[in-house]
Amino acid sequence: MYEDIKLNIRDVSDFPQKGILFKDITPALKDKRCFGQIIEAFYDIFKNENIDKIAAIESRGYLIGAPLAYKLGCGLVVLRKPGKLPAKTIKEYYELEYGRAALEIHVDAISPNEKILIIDDLIATGGTVEAACKLVTRLGGKIVSAAFLIELEKLGGRQKLKSYTQTISLIKYYGA
Ligand code: AMP
Repeated sequence: MYEDIKLNIRDVSDFPQKGILFKDITPALKDKRCFGQIIEAFYDIFKNENIDKIAAIESRGYLIGAPLAYKLGCGLVVLRKPGKLPAKTIKEYYELEYGRAALEIHVDAISPNEKILIIDDLIATGGTVEAACKLVTRLGGKIVSAAFLIELEKLGGRQKLKSYTQTISLIKYYGA
């Protein structure tokens, strides 16, 4: 399943730093058929879930989250790196291999009990999306699922998400 999409994901070695095998989704996005397949696949999975809002993670999560929100007929809210959102925000830190990073969300982005679908391009260790889950939960959102185009299974992100929500990914890599 989704083999066509997988063929359009490019491995780039040692990017952005030595030892990382970067999964580049730009070939899948530039192919109109493949891009359409990705959005349709997520639409089919979530069309009956009555999602109120997609929470998309900066920045490649926006490339999937925005067209999917339009197709599902729901709202779109953005989780951004610190200092980018103009109005009042809350913040959650998460660990990177070297140091810490953080995500922010506008305090009025989500209302209590709204059904939220979190979207990013890829889950690796799960640290980024865990921060996203904490932000959505702090605002009272009910997380329906966290969904990704790509899952790097070896890094165990799915286990980290267990206490927050279910994890859905279209394409899985077991090794690198
Ligand atoms: P993590 O917090 O470890 O789950 O990392 C997920 C975030 O980092 C996502 O926003 C991805 O876009 C990015 N990322 C991590 N590893 C890779 C990789 N091997 N290729 C492409 N993006 C990655």
